[in-house]
Amino acid sequence: MSNEVIDLRSDAISVPGQEMRDAIATADVGDEQKREDPTVLDLERRAADMLGQDESVFVPSATMANQIALRVLTRPGDEVLVEERSHIFRNEAGGPAVHSGLVIGPIPSARGIFTGDQVRSYITRDGDPHHAQTAAVCVENTHNSSGGSVWSLDEFGDVSATARELGLAIHLDGARLLNAAVASDATAATYAEPCDTVTLCFSKGLGCPAGAVIAGSSVRMASARRFKHLFGGAMRQTGFLAAAGLYALDHNVDRLAEDHANARRFARGLVAGGVRVVNSEVESNIVLLDVRSCGLDQQGAIKLFRDAGVLISKSAHDGVVRVMTHIGVEADQVDEALRRVIAALGKMAPTREEAPS
Ligand SMILES: *Cc1c(COP(=O)(O)O)cnc(C)c1O
Repeated sequence: MSNEVIDLRSDAISVPGQEMRDAIATADVGDEQKREDPTVLDLERRAADMLGQDESVFVPSATMANQIALRVLTRPGDEVLVEERSHIFRNEAGGPAVHSGLVIGPIPSARGIFTGDQVRSYITRDGDPHHAQTAAVCVENTHNSSGGSVWSLDEFGDVSATARELGLAIHLDGARLLNAAVASDATAATYAEPCDTVTLCFSKGLGCPAGAVIAGSSVRMASARRFKHLFGGAMRQTGFLAAAGLYALDHNVDRLAEDHANARRFARGLVAGGVRVVNSEVESNIVLLDVRSCGLDQQGAIKLFRDAGVLISKSAHDGVVRVMTHIGVEADQVDEALRRVIAALGKMAPTREEAPS
């Protein structure tokens, strides 16, 4: 294999292949804001049906979809419960505070997955005017920073039933919901069913250049369309982007299983090479490596991998780096990346503790 760099930093870095580019180039387009772009309307219908919701609204990014959802579901001064390392809390620039005036109630968890009992104990619904009252709970599936963990339907049902019982709105950050569906027995619609709003991202594993949808009831989506304008997300001839999304729904969903298999093989190979894999049950397309087991820190590991021709990224956990498989890397490239990394680790200078004094 050539010396080309193998990029496993994120599934967001993949670029469209020729067939997706053809779909983009030949898309029928119109003014999206006037609801006159036939390709956007088509994608919004397809996505809503797939998610079992009344309607969906096409937006530029999953970040905007999440932020619109929170705005639709809450009022300023409310509290929203989220997992403590969730994308909404840690990676959206404080958006819940800025766009919706929300207080975040972070729920700790081991795998990004919390329980109904935790929701019960973290909620504030006492009517005391001193206290921010909890209005909504967010669930992230798959959970990015925990290594792409997948909620089981039992786990999901426990939290959603509890939230319902307590009168909380439920938002599903399903940026990688199709990874979850492919990795489990559940469909995307099954996960979405108890939720008030759902985000789905097209520019992660689905391989599109941009775009996401927010889905929910017709009433909530009317509100979402207004906030899409307010947040500056209303666009014009976006059928070019929606065409990529339609192409991806037709061609790039089932193949997510290949990404998952590649991630599992990469993890197994590293474990055999003596590296500790944090999420040893690799559930989808993300592998977390505890590089302290090799005497490295995050930056040291990223550099060692880069020098070997493999790009990876940091993670939210000390001493842990993140590897993601995606549509842009074939199985043989993943195997080549594994060979390079194992060779580089084998050649590593002895760590300070091991070095002769
Ligand atoms: C990447 C990601 C987002 C945001 O997606 P963008 O389209 O890049 O804004 C939201 N949630 C999760 C879980 C993500 O991984």
